[in-house]
Amino acid sequence: LTVAEFDLIALIRDRCAIAREDVRLGIGDDAALLAVPAGQLLAVSTDTLVSGVHFPQSAKAYDIGWKALAVNLSDLAAMGATPAWAVLALTQPQADPRWVAEFAEGFAALAREFKFALVGGDTTQGPLSITVTVHGFVPDGAALLRSGARAGDAVFVTGTLGDAAAGLRCLDKNDCDADRLVSAPAGTRETLIERLHRPVPRVAQGLALRGRVSACIDISDGLLADLGHICSASGVGAELDADALPSSSALLAVFDADARRAFQLGGGDDYELCFTAKEGEASSLLGDLARSGCGATRIGRIVAKSGVRVSDAAGNCVPIVKAGWEHFE
Ligand code: ADP
Ligand code: MG
Repeated sequence: LTVAEFDLIALIRDRCAIAREDVRLGIGDDAALLAVPAGQLLAVSTDTLVSGVHFPQSAKAYDIGWKALAVNLSDLAAMGATPAWAVLALTQPQADPRWVAEFAEGFAALAREFKFALVGGDTTQGPLSITVTVHGFVPDGAALLRSGARAGDAVFVTGTLGDAAAGLRCLDKNDCDADRLVSAPAGTRETLIERLHRPVPRVAQGLALRGRVSACIDISDGLLADLGHICSASGVGAELDADALPSSSALLAVFDADARRAFQLGGGDDYELCFTAKEGEASSLLGDLARSGCGATRIGRIVAKSGVRVSDAAGNCVPIVKAGWEHFE
């Protein structure tokens, strides 16, 4: 451990270590000591963000800190788990205290919302990369799995879809759809880009779904790809109504129906929850989610025939542009 590493760890600890009764020993020793509540299972998940792959080289340190935690909390949300602790492996080319302080501020801003504690990690030199491992609690038997969807269930999604992919387009081309952008309300482009950089994990919504849904997944790779995972794990298929896909006002202001559908079905980085439930549960679920601060929309149904198909209100099949984002393509 060099002096520089020690300074970086102190910067991170000062911003991110939160007092929790179940953290018996946090950052500073060879390992953290943590108490899992009786009757609960530990839900564990990890995600790596690599510079130039998962975020542009130009991304702000604060946003990277936020997103590194958000994508991991989204996985806990999709399991119906309560977030508790994280460890952080940070690799950067040179010790850069300013960058690390901003990164930690972004991480901490989201962590504080959930009283979520950073309890350890590793700090090394190399190409910029961030790995966060998160831990949460879920009562034994209550986790939301991918494997329980049944023919006849309805398919739902929280929030709105496609904004992050649209935000990425705005960054790439620097114009979105230039003509429409001129007449869109001020800040529309920034709203879309913010959805890309600062996803909000649907933790409260995941908790509200416990015991009431047949399957759940978070949408990181695009609706078609991720609903496809529910379908394969459950041995079923799905039919989606293209006209039911929820759009934000920012997305509607700038992109036409074809572009919106491409972002909503195939774009990634939404970090909304996609879940399935019995038709009879729909109205109480939708009501409770609306009251939770993030509503949901019914977008289709589960069928016995495998695969995911999309049609519009007139019943016409909607061609599928790109089924999600995959590495090593
Ligand atoms: P060791 O050499 O025993 O693995 P380190 O010197 O790497 O320990 O780390 C010292 C302490 O700082 C440990 O408690 C470790 O978990 C914590 N730590 C190191 N890097 C980070 C980081 N990026 N974020 C949070 N905690 C960290
Ligand atoms: Mg040690």
